[in-house]
Amino acid sequence: MKDLYTHIQSALDSLAAEGNLRSLSHALPEGRYLLAQGQRMLNLSSNDYLGLAADLELRARFLAELTTDDFMPSSSSSRLLTGNHPAFDELEVALARLYDAEAALVFNSGYDANTGILPAIVDTGDLILADKLVHASLIDGMRLSRAQWFRFKHNNLKHLEHLLQKLAPSYRHIVIVTESIFSMDGDEAPLNGLVELKRLYPNVLLYVDEAHAFGLRGRRGLGCCEEQGCIGDVDFLVGTLGKAAASAGAFVVCRRVARDYLVNRVRPFIFTTALPPIIARWSRYVLNLLPEMGERRQRLAELSRRLRRVLREQRMKCPSGSHIIPLIVGDSAEAVRRAEEMQRRGYYVRAVRPPTVPEGTARLRFSLRADLADEEMEGLINILAGHEMPGK
Ligand code: PMP
Repeated sequence: MKDLYTHIQSALDSLAAEGNLRSLSHALPEGRYLLAQGQRMLNLSSNDYLGLAADLELRARFLAELTTDDFMPSSSSSRLLTGNHPAFDELEVALARLYDAEAALVFNSGYDANTGILPAIVDTGDLILADKLVHASLIDGMRLSRAQWFRFKHNNLKHLEHLLQKLAPSYRHIVIVTESIFSMDGDEAPLNGLVELKRLYPNVLLYVDEAHAFGLRGRRGLGCCEEQGCIGDVDFLVGTLGKAAASAGAFVVCRRVARDYLVNRVRPFIFTTALPPIIARWSRYVLNLLPEMGERRQRLAELSRRLRRVLREQRMKCPSGSHIIPLIVGDSAEAVRRAEEMQRRGYYVRAVRPPTVPEGTARLRFSLRADLADEEMEGLINILAGHEMPGK
């Protein structure tokens, strides 16, 4: 029998042979640029979509308000013990008010929220119906739950309707799970269609992960549910704070009774040290400003429309309807080669490979950002327009 380390080494060798080996490399942010591999590149791989994490003036204004007492870098305990600093309640009250919802609950990360909430709210006898392309954190949440689960074809309301007709009578509760903007394809879920289907069944609930839409969509930046006018129809609306909101953590907006239950049942909420209070405070600071950031949202939407149009004019496959714009290459090694070429030209773009995306759909993933300068956008477009791309 092979020893464990031999086994691990051969697994790594196989990943390398498939072009799917991942490794860590140093990356030092400098505003919207990144210092990596001895080079300064425009960072088109982060989730700092509004450029708020790179905004030093914003950070300085926040810091100017703080005292040494305010700067609490540790909660030193779970929120259920001594870690429930008032900054968390203040953030949750502000979130609930913004969404005009009964309650909100903050988690240490989106991964914690999704892997914690799903197993808490369903049990044996329940069913989760999730979009085929939902994020790994939602898949892990389903796996950890005691409910049965099944994935419907991506954004396919007909398929979901068929499954609901067939299965709704046999389960106690059914939770439909989707993202609002999908993290790898950048396309949007048909939220109103999902709401209509949910309304047909008294035992069906809707769970929407707005990780890539929070801060960016809707008049006040609350997400696609705000944009599509369906906040009140979503039972569990999850947003992350580490992306457009330039902080860390995540939240769910839900009914008060559901929040009370989650506090008692979500294991990654109960059995972990709370985020540092300074992070909750910074999240709240950014949250207060988000509704007024319409100009940044518009700038990002314009840049995104432009890049999507260029890719389509080049007849490249591009499913996106948002600021997450994949250029699907197919082969992993080829995607890595193209990403390296973009990097050599000063644009930090990463290849996304299986298992993050389905086999045969390795891609370059452009995460656009509102603080891109016009010349930088022109430069990017020129490179892409000059490329020999598949399908041409
Ligand atoms: N949901 C989605 C759709 C995501 O893309 C991600 C992370 N990329 C998460 C949840 C996890 O959020 P966090 O990074 O805060 O753990």
